[in-house]
Amino acid sequence: MTTLLIYAGPGDAAGDGTRTGGLPLVPSGFTWPHCGSCDAPLQFTAQVRVGPVIAVFHCRHESRAFRFAADRLSGPAAAPGAVLSDVSAVRFVEAPGNYAQARDAWPRRRDVLGQLGGSPVWLRGEQIPDCPACGTAMAFVAQLEVDGGCAYVFTCRPCAEAACCYQC
Ligand SMILES: [Zn+2]
Ligand SMILES: [Zn+2]
Repeated sequence: MTTLLIYAGPGDAAGDGTRTGGLPLVPSGFTWPHCGSCDAPLQFTAQVRVGPVIAVFHCRHESRAFRFAADRLSGPAAAPGAVLSDVSAVRFVEAPGNYAQARDAWPRRRDVLGQLGGSPVWLRGEQIPDCPACGTAMAFVAQLEVDGGCAYVFTCRPCAEAACCYQC
């Protein structure tokens, strides 16, 4: 079984649940991330609520994820120069098969925003990141459809770290 993330119409821009687009809710003091290669502000892709909230950012050159305790969120991030996309609500649908099978069976492919939990379906081979704090393999959180490829989101619960890699 796969838990698909399905587009559910315009979303609440102030929502602290799983959604795509708009501005992420962040703790005070958060600084909008910039790409290490081209120096442009990263594009905010999605926030995924798994107890804590994981915010995912993307550029053609790199993907980053930040994990925030839900009770530490203070408001939307300030986004100097970042391109914002529309806020979309997300619903969760259980579907048979792995993610690729469930996605391809969905009647409107562009409504499939990704999957929550389960197992990643890699486009270019397994790439599980090690936690930057403790060095162990991180746990899979979500796979998101981004820019014609997939962003793979991971976390280390004991260290409260998050990471993201992108394949296309
Ligand atoms: Zn870049
Ligand atoms: Zn760790």
